[in-house]
Amino acid sequence: MPIHIPFDNTYARLPERFYARVNPTRVAAPRLVRVNTRLAEQLGIDLRNLNDPEAANIFAGNVLPPGAEPIALAYAGHQFGGFSPQLGDGRAILLGEVVDLNGERRDIQLKGAGPTPFSRQGDGRAALGPVLREYMISEAMAALGIPTTGALAAVTTGEEVFRETRLPGAVLARIAGSHVRVGTFQFFAARGDHEALKTLADYVIARHYPDTAAAANPYRALLDGVIGRQAELVAQWTLVGFIHGVMNTDNTAISGETIDYGPCAFMDAYDPAAVFSSIDQGGRYAYANQPRIAHWNLSRLAETLLPLLGESDDAGLASAEEALTAFGPRFETAYLSGLCRKIGLTTQRDGDTELVRDLLARMASGAADFTLTFRNLCAAAAGPEGDAGVRAQFADADAYDGWAARWRARLATEPTPPAVRAASMRALNPAIIPRNHIVEAALAAALGGNFGPFEALLDATAQPFEDRPGFEPPAQIDRSYQTFCGT
Ligand code: AMP
Ligand code: MG
Repeated sequence: MPIHIPFDNTYARLPERFYARVNPTRVAAPRLVRVNTRLAEQLGIDLRNLNDPEAANIFAGNVLPPGAEPIALAYAGHQFGGFSPQLGDGRAILLGEVVDLNGERRDIQLKGAGPTPFSRQGDGRAALGPVLREYMISEAMAALGIPTTGALAAVTTGEEVFRETRLPGAVLARIAGSHVRVGTFQFFAARGDHEALKTLADYVIARHYPDTAAAANPYRALLDGVIGRQAELVAQWTLVGFIHGVMNTDNTAISGETIDYGPCAFMDAYDPAAVFSSIDQGGRYAYANQPRIAHWNLSRLAETLLPLLGESDDAGLASAEEALTAFGPRFETAYLSGLCRKIGLTTQRDGDTELVRDLLARMASGAADFTLTFRNLCAAAAGPEGDAGVRAQFADADAYDGWAARWRARLATEPTPPAVRAASMRALNPAIIPRNHIVEAALAAALGGNFGPFEALLDATAQPFEDRPGFEPPAQIDRSYQTFCGT
């Protein structure tokens, strides 16, 4: 047997109305682009006896590994604020689950594996560009320590897909804590299917929030848990300048992982209003709006849980409202304490919040590069001889100098010696992010058959806290830069 995947499937044991059983559709000529051997090992998948054509067949869905039970999951969702009662996996097929070496249950899903009963007008396929974009960005996020789905493999299909133009088709083998979304709860709530809602809630409690099972009301504890993880997640995005781009409720994972990388991007120059997605005309999912949107999405989750939250409607509503009030403070605390750590503060003093907010205001008006400002502050934290790198980020270097004087006065009250401080800041402030112009160049090269730049970007972003030349901001920031939805 060329491959052994130790499947242990649970979602496929849930009632039939949770999914549709459907096999991937064969593709003409699969070719392996990349397989993530480190992740495979962690999943307990032995790839050593597998040659590239065999791996390509498996990750394209042409050959089903023993133990796979392919299903497309049912879900609904609010997209840009409008509710669709039925979305579902229209082009993704869950092969099954494995328990990884850390004891974590993980889904293995093929995205772009062909039509399903949820495909609506879609072809069930994915184009190479979006597949590689998701591969690069999800792996970069993982290396930054941010909860995310993972990329196990990418293959080209040897077939074309038709979007605005003809594009090479591809499949992404994706790993996730699970693919249960806020929209999964909405699917059953919209149908008034309370029994399924309870089954789903019990399932995610067991799978993702086992500690809540013993709570007085486990469903309230579940809601608290999801709210907490989403608040922490969005704070982590904010601290690295990440913009998800399409924070619909069907793209909000109950596990607290970043999921469904479509038109996402990291910003270069700091701009709270930054938005890159071509379809996000109103800026609904702009950088600084993300916490508000996460709260909105969690409110939709809370609504679905109302029948489980209290004996009466009023009690359920009061419980949901109380749970939701925790989001703001949880986000603010994670975000502000994260910012303070980014500028080298290990203790808390009055005025710290104003100090970091003042830096951000100066960065915004000076169009300072978000990543490099914080990265170069690491050198500056050791002493003013390190200031040049930060000053260079600001249109007007005086804007930094004025702030730096206050920052140094504050640093002087810290117990840590400057060299230690600089080193611990370097472990927090990445040097390397997948910058838009580098991602685009890697995608353009890959579409021309050269995967070198894609590999190089993966290599660099795998060690985001190591300095390495070649991944700097563009000489000229492209203010019209747009990303397109990953369909
Ligand atoms: P996404 O924008 O990828 O999060 O997808 C939103 C919804 O559209 C999900 O229900 C997808 O399954 C569905 N979808 C996106 N692209 C396709 C496609 N090419 N074929 C079928 N369904 C799709
Ligand atoms: Mg989606």
